[in-house]
Amino acid sequence: MKCILLRFGELYLKGNNRYLFEKTLIDNIKFSLRDESFNFEKTFGRYVISNYDDKDENKIVEKLKKVFGLYSFSLATEVEADVNKIVNEVCKINVSNKSFKVFVKRADKSFPMSSMEFASYLGGALLENYVSSKVDLYHPQVEVNVDIRLNGKAYIFTNNIKGQGGLPLGCSGKGLMLLSGGIDSPVAGYLIAKRGMKLDALHFHSYPYTSEQAKEKVITLAKELSGYLGHFNLHIVSFTKVQEEIHKHCLPEYMITIMRRIMMRVAEKICEKNNLGAIITGESLGQVASQTMESMRTTGSVVDSLPILRPCVAMDKEEIIKVSNEIGTFQTSILPYEDCCTVFLPKNPIIRPTIEHCLKEEKKIDVSLLVEECVKSEEIIKI
Ligand code: ATP
Ligand code: MG
Repeated sequence: MKCILLRFGELYLKGNNRYLFEKTLIDNIKFSLRDESFNFEKTFGRYVISNYDDKDENKIVEKLKKVFGLYSFSLATEVEADVNKIVNEVCKINVSNKSFKVFVKRADKSFPMSSMEFASYLGGALLENYVSSKVDLYHPQVEVNVDIRLNGKAYIFTNNIKGQGGLPLGCSGKGLMLLSGGIDSPVAGYLIAKRGMKLDALHFHSYPYTSEQAKEKVITLAKELSGYLGHFNLHIVSFTKVQEEIHKHCLPEYMITIMRRIMMRVAEKICEKNNLGAIITGESLGQVASQTMESMRTTGSVVDSLPILRPCVAMDKEEIIKVSNEIGTFQTSILPYEDCCTVFLPKNPIIRPTIEHCLKEEKKIDVSLLVEECVKSEEIIKI
């Protein structure tokens, strides 16, 4: 019987939490395959997906590739763990004119031969069947794997498809990613979700200074991320008034810093309302003036109830772009629509802002009223 054999990695490390982790992972696998029909079996240390339509195999594989917590998987054939049946199946693998190696793994120790013995036995059978083949233990063209499990079944396969790794989505609580239309924030969201954090997203727009298209772009990015994140809420908040007020009353070089501090306060409120435990941004150390250590300190200092996580903080732009391409958000991110942060952009934003100076600037505007109005303007889009 054809099947897909799934392996999970770090779950092993999690001792007492293992039950919850596995349950979450299984739920996520089933959710990601909700439009397919298939059979799911859990055996110790592996999951097996079978009874799907052949023509859906690629689609299923592509979906599984986006499930966090899955380490790797193989397209396999399942047979009873019986010597003759396994030999029979292995001999269907055409190794004519090829070098091969047989690798046997035996979770079931009651199997009559040791892994080594059985591997060389199977190798002998293949050599007999395909006289032009040869064994190469170091650089084989085909690696024939036989995995004998405790469920009385053996799995035979020649491929290994890399999964996402990480931890199942939902095992590490829930957070709020600040999603701009840029390259970095979708990557930040993806990276933190890969460590098991379920996310909502928050976007600030400054209509009419930013266009309807800029908002659409963020919705597209959110949809692109949902292959990894599942369904989530995208909170959209109007930032127009905040920017106008800061522009009117505050020192231009402090504009971005004050904006960021207000964004953080709004984010904290939205987290409180929605029971979210962390704020995630796409900041990267030193990338621009507003992302120096001092800037992060002044923006971070307005939030004291939650951690601010910056998964891209130590990444070069090239590294961020590489991930952005891999997860499929890059092409959308580089569409030209302006972000609210580019509106009224000062010529010389301050590189080393101080908290004291921010507080002085913020006295010139009604921060708590502005924050309140932002929260009130919230529109929620279900992704
Ligand atoms: P990105 O590529 O994510 O836009 P960036 O390098 O352009 O990042 P900034 O514009 O300085 O950097 O923004 C830093 C972070 O602040 C972003 O990664 C994002 O998390 C958050 N942010 C910026 N603008 C917005 C916005 N309009 N809505 C929500 N979050 C935003
Ligand atoms: Mg940006």
